[in-house]
Amino acid sequence: MPYQEHLPDEAATRALGARLAPLVHSGLVIFLQGDLGAGKTTLARALIQALGYEGRVKSPTYALVELYKVSSLCLYHFDFYRFNDPREWIDAGFRECFNAENICLVEWPEKAEGLLPTPDLTILLSHADSGRRVQIRADTEAGQGCLQRL
Ligand code: ADP
Ligand code: MG
Repeated sequence: MPYQEHLPDEAATRALGARLAPLVHSGLVIFLQGDLGAGKTTLARALIQALGYEGRVKSPTYALVELYKVSSLCLYHFDFYRFNDPREWIDAGFRECFNAENICLVEWPEKAEGLLPTPDLTILLSHADSGRRVQIRADTEAGQGCLQRL
């Protein structure tokens, strides 16, 4: 993992989300990994709000996906924690969301393994002392571009 940081409190997680906001662009796929309560939704929420979204950013745990249209971007926030039927994926047309026009943030991508494209960035959050540790990996050139600017 080329990028690592200790996030001592929730404010630090939110600050990281805000720092990522100016770096994201259409077509990016970002995986958010880590246990329940690791801070995936906190990070996604801060990123979406830093893009200028002023409404409530809910966890998409039950809906599986929430769409945000903000500053000329279409951002899909997925949470596959409760995902267990791959047919649901096909029927709901989720696959079409992953295209050059959209940004996709994906919590629990491992639950939809094999159905998702290669991510540009993988953000891994883990508990560390009373805070969190974040590790970020880039798997594409677009992802590397973001990581270098972080
Ligand atoms: P997840 O989506 O990974 O299940 P959430 O973001 O919903 O996790 O919840 C994370 C919880 O951890 C929230 O209560 C949040 O306040 C807290 N939290 C987030 N980042 C940190 C941090 N760096 N240190 C301590 N607590 C944090
Ligand atoms: Mg979550």
